[in-house]
Amino acid sequence: MPLRNVERTPSAVWTALAAGNERFMNFNEDRPNQDAPRRRELRDGQKPAAVVISCSDSRVPVELIFDVGLGDLFVVRTAGEILDQAVFASIEYAIESIGVPLVIVMGHESCGAVAATASALDGGAIPGGYQRVLVEKVAPSILEAKADGKTSIEDFEKHHVVATVNQILSRSPEIHDKVNAGKVGIIGLRYQLSDGKTMPVISRNVGLD
Ligand SMILES: [Zn+2]
Repeated sequence: MPLRNVERTPSAVWTALAAGNERFMNFNEDRPNQDAPRRRELRDGQKPAAVVISCSDSRVPVELIFDVGLGDLFVVRTAGEILDQAVFASIEYAIESIGVPLVIVMGHESCGAVAATASALDGGAIPGGYQRVLVEKVAPSILEAKADGKTSIEDFEKHHVVATVNQILSRSPEIHDKVNAGKVGIIGLRYQLSDGKTMPVISRNVGLD
């Protein structure tokens, strides 16, 4: 069922987006909502189905990966999908003011921010300027993963997504309460560059937990 027609519940939205990702993986895209009528329809407002916090990496284009179009997703992208006040404000706006029922956190295979942080923690160079913030924000995730016995970059990427989801829930009472009440779902994904799949690594209220 097209995303715009699904019931606005966390699990229904996730099911539709997962189906879109399947189409993308299989080169069988519908490419919905990318025509002139849709553009005109959106003049009057938006009703996206999910808010997505994704890495800015050019290989992770969110709308393409889920085979959706204009007005379908409210997207925040930062290198390493790191969180700050502006990101939290954007997520809370999407939930409280637009009424999206689903939060997606999406990391990915071969993430430069995770690799740079892992290298810095191993004694490598710490990037200068504002890039230092990337390392500061990703480092706790990698240290947690290491404390848990994890050693591979893949595991660091997965755990950074898990830690980011947990941070959203622990730092925003607004989001936490809506997730606890079942009104909003949250899912963390690791996008696999090699085959195009968005692999769930943590979730609440989307029918996988
Ligand atoms: Zn990345």
